[in-house]
Amino acid sequence: VIDRPTCLARDLADPLARFRPLFHHPPDLIYLEGNSLGMMPKAVPARLDALVSREWADGLIRSWNDAGWWDMPLRIGAKIARLIGAHPDEVAATDSTSVNLFKLLAAATQLRPGRRVILTDPDNFPTDLYIADGLVNLLPGYELRLRPVTEIAASLDETIAVVTLSHVDYKTAAIHDMPAITRAAHAAGALALWDLSHSAGAVSVGLAAAGADLAVGCGYKYLNGGPGAPAYLYVRRDHQEKIRAPISGWWGHAEPFAFLPRYAPAPGIARMLCGTQSPLAMAALDTALDLWADVDLALLDVKRAALTDLFITLVERDCPDLRLASPRDPAARASHVSFRHEDGYAVMQALRAAGVIGDFRSPDLLRFGFTPLYIGYVDVFDAATRLALVMREEGYRRAEFRRPARVT
Ligand SMILES: *Cc1c(COP(=O)(O)O)cnc(C)c1O
Repeated sequence: VIDRPTCLARDLADPLARFRPLFHHPPDLIYLEGNSLGMMPKAVPARLDALVSREWADGLIRSWNDAGWWDMPLRIGAKIARLIGAHPDEVAATDSTSVNLFKLLAAATQLRPGRRVILTDPDNFPTDLYIADGLVNLLPGYELRLRPVTEIAASLDETIAVVTLSHVDYKTAAIHDMPAITRAAHAAGALALWDLSHSAGAVSVGLAAAGADLAVGCGYKYLNGGPGAPAYLYVRRDHQEKIRAPISGWWGHAEPFAFLPRYAPAPGIARMLCGTQSPLAMAALDTALDLWADVDLALLDVKRAALTDLFITLVERDCPDLRLASPRDPAARASHVSFRHEDGYAVMQALRAAGVIGDFRSPDLLRFGFTPLYIGYVDVFDAATRLALVMREEGYRRAEFRRPARVT
């Protein structure tokens, strides 16, 4: 039997449990949405306060040097590199995921002249599709081709410049086979660009091992960098000297303070920077990433599989009306779990009123994120218990839970 005491025992034996108290947990709330906006590490407010009241207030312009503001994108990128199986000099923290995707897709088309197709999957995250669409509209003769993930390998030919996919499906949490798809892309002469937004910090990622060419990812989800945190981009070492930044701003210049009239790219990953970044936002992400330095990344895979398995078992036992939309095999499933219900939106509102926060993805998906760093087995048990109560009592049928919100 699975009961609360067995879950408590599992928390006590959990080698990652020591990270839970390093995050601020609002009272009486089970937060299953770290896959969308990570919780706040308790060390962040003091860091931001120091930045504002000392580095900005007193240091002023000197802080670009003295407080290391200028170097933040590459210094923070090097910390992220460990989480995604990259070399420290292959990653920069900068801009948003959407903007980084645009920059790298455009650069990819320049690395493969003569090939005019960007290939992706229609179930990719919408911004990834919109960005690719926007890019092909700028490039005469280019085309965005959509094929289901299962058909991507078979759709590769000499017209494809770049295949771009999310490593983890944001709806179902299915993990796509990065090594196999990257190999297939290379065999066809194409580049592979991966979006790691739903994997880094939850699933072990091996960009270098897979030979991935390019990647982007999000700073505010599993990395806990705060709302609107800087995102990151990765360019494999051997592409770095060939790649051109399509938004060629002064931060990517070889000599930004020479103020030369002509653009000349900086060596290495720095050329993919574009303009001034916010040290405030960078500092929050930087502080959040310090937690990760002590995390044994192999434990993430073990714990996310265990947490999500436990949740699926409890929900399928107690909520017969919910249908699993995520892969059943934990090796094929990332750190969130989705269930379908025709009244999914109202169910999630009722569950939020009961103190469990997950989210809803149209048309019928209830999504629950289990962040291995700060969610425990008792959290899973209590969340499933409250969900079962909402389903049993049908409280979600009340009108108050049907009012649409701007952000779901
Ligand atoms: C969250 C997410 C994004 C977010 O993009 P922003 O530019 O930060 O709004 C992009 N792609 C994927 C796959 C995501 O999960």
